[in-house]
Amino acid sequence: MQVVKNPGTDIYANFIYAMRRSGATLQQIADRLNRTKERVRQILVKNYGSTRHELLSTEQLRKRLGLSRPRVMELCRDKIITPAREWNTKGTYRFLWSPDAVEQVNNYFSTNVLCKRCHRPLPSGRRVFCSVECYNEGHKYKYKSALGKKRHLESVKRYRQKGRVLVQAAATGR
Ligand SMILES: [Zn+2]
Repeated sequence: MQVVKNPGTDIYANFIYAMRRSGATLQQIADRLNRTKERVRQILVKNYGSTRHELLSTEQLRKRLGLSRPRVMELCRDKIITPAREWNTKGTYRFLWSPDAVEQVNNYFSTNVLCKRCHRPLPSGRRVFCSVECYNEGHKYKYKSALGKKRHLESVKRYRQKGRVLVQAAATGR
Protein backbone atom coordinates (compact mmCIF):
# COMPACT_ATOMS: atom_id res chain seq x y z
CA MET A 1 0.00 0.00 0.00
CA GLN A 2 1.30 3.38 -0.93
CA VAL A 3 1.56 5.92 1.82
CA VAL A 4 -0.95 8.65 1.17
CA LYS A 5 0.89 11.82 0.31
CA ASN A 6 -1.34 14.68 1.35
CA PRO A 7 -1.37 15.05 5.12
CA GLY A 8 -4.46 16.70 6.53
CA THR A 9 -6.97 14.67 4.53
CA ASP A 10 -9.26 12.08 6.01
CA ILE A 11 -7.55 9.38 3.95
CA TYR A 12 -4.27 10.23 5.62
CA ALA A 13 -5.87 10.10 9.05
CA ASN A 14 -7.63 6.87 8.12
CA PHE A 15 -4.33 5.34 7.09
CA ILE A 16 -2.81 6.22 10.44
CA TYR A 17 -5.86 4.90 12.23
CA ALA A 18 -5.79 1.66 10.24
CA MET A 19 -2.12 1.10 11.08
CA ARG A 20 -2.82 1.85 14.72
CA ARG A 21 -5.70 -0.58 14.75
CA SER A 22 -3.56 -3.29 13.23
CA GLY A 23 -1.30 -2.95 16.26
CA ALA A 24 1.41 -0.52 15.13
CA THR A 25 2.98 1.69 17.78
CA LEU A 26 2.93 5.48 17.39
CA GLN A 27 6.67 5.31 16.71
CA GLN A 28 6.25 2.72 13.93
CA ILE A 29 3.61 4.86 12.25
CA ALA A 30 5.78 7.95 12.64
CA ASP A 31 8.76 6.19 11.06
CA ARG A 32 6.71 4.95 8.17
CA LEU A 33 5.25 8.39 7.40
CA ASN A 34 8.38 10.32 8.20
CA ARG A 35 6.62 12.34 10.87
CA THR A 36 7.25 12.79 14.56
CA LYS A 37 5.57 10.52 17.05
CA GLU A 38 3.92 13.58 18.60
CA ARG A 39 2.45 14.60 15.23
CA VAL A 40 0.95 11.13 14.75
CA ARG A 41 -0.54 11.32 18.23
CA GLN A 42 -2.04 14.74 17.46
CA ILE A 43 -3.63 13.49 14.22
CA LEU A 44 -5.16 10.51 15.99
CA VAL A 45 -6.55 12.64 18.82
CA LYS A 46 -7.86 15.29 16.44
CA ASN A 47 -9.60 12.85 14.10
CA TYR A 48 -10.51 10.00 16.41
CA GLY A 49 -10.56 11.56 19.86
CA SER A 50 -7.99 9.12 21.20
CA THR A 51 -4.88 7.12 20.31
CA ARG A 52 -6.57 3.93 21.46
CA HIS A 53 -7.39 1.63 18.62
CA GLU A 54 -10.13 -0.79 19.53
CA LEU A 55 -12.94 1.45 18.29
CA LEU A 56 -14.08 1.48 14.67
CA SER A 57 -14.33 4.51 12.43
CA THR A 58 -17.61 4.91 10.55
CA GLU A 59 -15.82 3.82 7.38
CA GLN A 60 -14.58 0.64 9.05
CA LEU A 61 -17.98 -0.12 10.52
CA ARG A 62 -19.62 0.52 7.16
CA LYS A 63 -17.26 -1.90 5.43
CA ARG A 64 -17.71 -4.62 8.01
CA LEU A 65 -21.45 -4.33 7.63
CA GLY A 66 -21.50 -4.03 3.85
CA LEU A 67 -23.68 -0.93 4.16
CA SER A 68 -23.43 2.60 2.84
CA ARG A 69 -22.46 5.42 5.17
CA PRO A 70 -25.93 7.07 5.03
CA ARG A 71 -27.47 3.72 5.95
CA VAL A 72 -25.18 3.45 8.98
CA MET A 73 -26.16 6.96 10.07
CA GLU A 74 -29.79 6.06 9.60
CA LEU A 75 -29.36 3.07 11.94
CA CYS A 76 -27.80 5.50 14.41
CA ARG A 77 -30.74 7.92 14.14
CA ASP A 78 -33.11 5.00 14.68
CA LYS A 79 -31.10 4.14 17.84
CA ILE A 80 -30.20 0.67 16.59
CA ILE A 81 -26.59 1.61 17.31
CA THR A 82 -25.11 4.46 19.33
CA PRO A 83 -21.59 5.80 18.82
CA ALA A 84 -19.04 4.99 21.52
CA ARG A 85 -17.71 8.52 21.03
CA GLU A 86 -18.87 11.51 19.06
CA TRP A 87 -17.50 15.00 18.72
CA ASN A 88 -17.42 17.92 16.40
CA THR A 89 -14.33 19.22 14.58
CA LYS A 90 -14.83 22.38 12.56
CA GLY A 91 -18.50 21.68 11.93
CA THR A 92 -18.02 18.02 10.98
CA TYR A 93 -19.45 15.39 13.26
CA ARG A 94 -17.17 12.48 13.86
CA PHE A 95 -18.08 9.13 15.36
CA LEU A 96 -16.33 6.08 16.73
CA TRP A 97 -18.09 2.78 17.22
CA SER A 98 -17.63 -0.14 19.51
CA PRO A 99 -16.94 -3.44 17.66
CA ASP A 100 -20.22 -4.61 19.29
CA ALA A 101 -22.07 -2.37 16.84
CA VAL A 102 -21.43 -4.96 14.11
CA GLU A 103 -23.34 -7.62 16.03
CA GLN A 104 -26.08 -5.18 17.01
CA VAL A 105 -26.75 -4.33 13.37
CA ASN A 106 -26.60 -7.98 12.31
CA ASN A 107 -29.11 -8.87 15.03
CA TYR A 108 -31.33 -5.99 14.00
CA PHE A 109 -31.31 -7.11 10.38
CA SER A 110 -32.01 -10.73 11.19
CA THR A 111 -34.97 -9.89 13.43
CA ASN A 112 -36.44 -6.68 11.98
CA VAL A 113 -35.76 -6.54 8.28
CA LEU A 114 -37.64 -8.78 5.92
CA CYS A 115 -36.62 -10.03 2.50
CA LYS A 116 -37.64 -7.52 -0.15
CA ARG A 117 -39.17 -10.26 -2.27
CA CYS A 118 -40.56 -13.04 -0.05
CA HIS A 119 -40.85 -10.99 3.20
CA ARG A 120 -39.27 -13.70 5.31
CA PRO A 121 -36.64 -12.73 7.94
CA LEU A 122 -33.11 -12.21 6.62
CA PRO A 123 -30.39 -14.69 7.59
CA SER A 124 -27.22 -13.26 9.17
CA GLY A 125 -25.10 -11.21 6.77
CA ARG A 126 -27.92 -10.64 4.25
CA ARG A 127 -29.14 -7.07 3.79
CA VAL A 128 -31.94 -6.91 1.24
CA PHE A 129 -32.80 -10.34 -0.09
CA CYS A 130 -32.88 -13.55 1.96
CA SER A 131 -31.26 -15.77 -0.64
CA VAL A 132 -29.63 -15.92 -4.04
CA GLU A 133 -32.98 -17.10 -5.44
CA CYS A 134 -34.80 -14.03 -4.15
CA TYR A 135 -31.96 -11.80 -5.33
CA ASN A 136 -32.14 -13.25 -8.83
CA GLU A 137 -35.91 -12.93 -8.96
CA GLY A 138 -36.36 -9.66 -7.09
CA HIS A 139 -33.42 -7.60 -8.25
CA LYS A 140 -33.57 -5.63 -11.49
CA TYR A 141 -30.63 -7.86 -12.43
CA LYS A 142 -33.21 -10.25 -13.83
CA TYR A 143 -34.11 -7.82 -16.60
CA LYS A 144 -30.59 -6.99 -17.66
CA SER A 145 -29.12 -8.19 -20.96
CA ALA A 146 -26.39 -10.85 -20.93
CA LEU A 147 -23.80 -8.09 -21.20
CA GLY A 148 -25.56 -6.05 -18.52
CA LYS A 149 -25.49 -9.06 -16.18
CA LYS A 150 -21.81 -9.61 -16.81
CA ARG A 151 -21.03 -5.93 -16.08
CA HIS A 152 -23.13 -5.96 -12.95
CA LEU A 153 -21.39 -9.05 -11.55
CA GLU A 154 -17.99 -7.57 -12.35
CA SER A 155 -18.83 -4.35 -10.55
CA VAL A 156 -20.07 -6.27 -7.49
CA LYS A 157 -16.84 -8.27 -7.50
CA ARG A 158 -14.72 -5.11 -7.80
CA TYR A 159 -16.62 -3.47 -4.96
CA ARG A 160 -16.11 -6.44 -2.65
CA GLN A 161 -12.47 -6.82 -3.64
CA LYS A 162 -11.76 -3.15 -2.97
CA GLY A 163 -12.98 -3.43 0.60
CA ARG A 164 -10.87 -6.51 1.23
CA VAL A 165 -7.72 -5.08 -0.32
CA LEU A 166 -7.93 -1.92 1.81
CA VAL A 167 -8.43 -3.92 4.99
CA GLN A 168 -5.59 -6.33 4.19
CA ALA A 169 -3.25 -3.55 3.17
CA ALA A 170 -3.91 -1.74 6.42
CA ALA A 171 -3.33 -4.93 8.42
CA THR A 172 -0.01 -5.82 6.79
CA GLY A 173 1.13 -2.22 6.40
CA ARG A 174 1.88 -2.81 2.72
ZN1 LIG B 1 -36.67 -14.00 0.15
